[in-house]
Amino acid sequence: MLDLSRERRRMVDVHLSRRGIHDREILEAMREVPREAFVDPGYEEFAYEDGPLPIAEDQTISQPYIVAFMLEMAQVNPGDQVLEVGTGSGYAAAVISRIVDHVYTIERHAGLAETARRRFEKLGYRNIKVRTGDGTKGWPEAAPFDAIIVAASGPGAPLALQQQLDVGGRLIIPVGEDPEEQRLLKVTRTGASTYSEEDFGAVRFVPLIGEEGWREDDRIRTGRAPSHLPTRSLPQMIGAAVEPLPEIDDPAFAEAFDRFAERRLVLLGEASHGTSEFYRARAAITRRLIEKHGFAIVAVEADWPDAAAIDRYVRHRRHSPAAVRPFQRFPAWMWRNTEVAAFVDWLRNHNQRVRPSKHRAGFYGLDIYNMSGSIAAVLDYLDRVDPEAAAIARQRYGCLTPWQKEPSTYGRAALSSGYRECEEAVLKQCRDMLARQIEHAGKDGAELFDAAQNARLIASAERYYRVMYYGGSQSWNLRDTHMFETLQHILDARGPNARAVVWAHNSHIGERALHRDGNLAG
Ligand code: SAM
Repeated sequence: MLDLSRERRRMVDVHLSRRGIHDREILEAMREVPREAFVDPGYEEFAYEDGPLPIAEDQTISQPYIVAFMLEMAQVNPGDQVLEVGTGSGYAAAVISRIVDHVYTIERHAGLAETARRRFEKLGYRNIKVRTGDGTKGWPEAAPFDAIIVAASGPGAPLALQQQLDVGGRLIIPVGEDPEEQRLLKVTRTGASTYSEEDFGAVRFVPLIGEEGWREDDRIRTGRAPSHLPTRSLPQMIGAAVEPLPEIDDPAFAEAFDRFAERRLVLLGEASHGTSEFYRARAAITRRLIEKHGFAIVAVEADWPDAAAIDRYVRHRRHSPAAVRPFQRFPAWMWRNTEVAAFVDWLRNHNQRVRPSKHRAGFYGLDIYNMSGSIAAVLDYLDRVDPEAAAIARQRYGCLTPWQKEPSTYGRAALSSGYRECEEAVLKQCRDMLARQIEHAGKDGAELFDAAQNARLIASAERYYRVMYYGGSQSWNLRDTHMFETLQHILDARGPNARAVVWAHNSHIGERALHRDGNLAG
C-alpha cells in the first residue's frame, strides 16, 4: 500500500520547502490536510504529485505549490478572517482553515460546494462556511477580510472584493485575457479608498465566471478567449506553422528533409503508434538520411533484444535464434507491420552495398520492457564465450525468474519480500558485463555491446518495475532516462561521427534529446 502520509510529507519537503515556500504555518497546514480526501475516487495515488487534477464540473483541484504560493503572498496569519472564491474540491479552504480563525468560501457549482461541505464535516474542520453563488460579489455580511484568495482567473480584480478587504488586507487573484496564461496579482488595501498592486508572475487558472468575471459563454468549456479579443484557433496556428509537402512516394518529399542532413540527431516523433501514412513518411525520410547523408543509426521505441534481432538481419550478422520470437509484447502492431517490414528489407539491401561492413546502418531498441528477452540474450552470449561466467549470471538472474513472465507483479512482491538481493545481483552482473566490455575492447564488438546493453536493460528494468508499483512520474522518468542513455551508448559505440534517426512517441523525444542537441524534425 502506498503510504500517503509519507507521500504528503515528501510533497511538502520536495515541492514546497525546496521551491521556496518558507512560511511554517503554511507548511504545517499542508502536512496536516489529507489531499487524497479532496480528489475524485481513483486519483488518490496522484494526490501528492505537484499538479492540478480534474474534479467534477470540468474544474480542477489546484496544484499544491500554487495553493501554498498564494497563501504566502496573502500573508495569512492565525486570527485572520479569510474569503476564498472558488471552493472547487475544498482543499485550499481546508488548508487555510488550519492556519486562520474563520474561512468563508464561495463556489458557483452547487454540487462542488456540497461535496466540499461534506468533506469538511467528515474531517471535523468546523471553522469553514461554504456558500453557493457568484464569488465575484464577495460575502458582504462577513466582510471585512484580512485576505481574499481567488482561485479562478478574471479580467481584473473585482471591485466588490477590493471593497471587502480590511485596511491592510490582501487580495490575491489571477488576471488576464489569455486563457493559456494569466498574471498573479496582489492587491493590498492601503487606506479607505487606496490600493497598491504587485505582479507575481505567470500562472494558469480556470476562468472566473460571474458578474465581475467572464460571461459563461465567453470561454468556459470552449476554452476560447472572450469575443472582443483577437483569437487564433488551434487549426489556424497549425496552418500558420506547417509547410506543404509532396506526396510521400514523390522523391521531393524526402528531399525536403535534406535541411537536417548535418544534424547529429533527427527525432521523428509521432502521436498515434500507427498510421500507415506516418510510418511510410518516417521511413522515406529515414531512407534519405541514411542513403544520402550517412546516418547509420535507427533507434526506435522498441525493446533492445527484439530490435537486436532486426539489427542482426539488416547488418547481415550471425543470426542467433532467441528463445522467444521478437515483438510479441503489446502493442505488437507497432513494429510487426508491413511498413516496418518494407523498411527493414530496404535497409538490409542497402547495407549489402556498404563497405566496410562496420559502416552499415543498424537498427536499435531504446526501450526497457523485455526483461526476459534480455536475460536470455545475456545468457546466450555468455554460454557461447564463457560458460563459467554464464553459470554465475544464471544464478544471479535466478532471483528474477518468478517474475519474468509478469514483471509488473515484481514491484508488489519486492515490497513484502525485500528486493535488495535481486537488485544487488543484477547490478553485479551489469558491472561484470561492462568490465568485460572494457577488457575485450576491440574484440567481439557488436555481440559484446549487445550483451552489455541487455545487462544494462535488466538492471534498469528491475528498478523500473519496482518503482512502477508506486505509480507516478518516477517510473516514467526512469524509463525515459534509460532510453536517453541507451541512445548515448549507441552513439558512443558507433564512433564520434555517428548520427542517429530516432523513432519514438512525442512524449519521449520531447524533452531530453531536445535539450541535448536541439534538433527536432516532425
Ligand atoms: N480552490 C480549489 C481547490 O482547492 O480545489 C480549486 C478551485 S478551481 C481551480 C476554481 C473554482 O472556481 C472552480 O470550482 C470554479 O467552479 C470556481 N468558480 C469560477 N468562477 C466562480 C465564481 N464567480 N464564484 C465562485 N466560484 C467560481
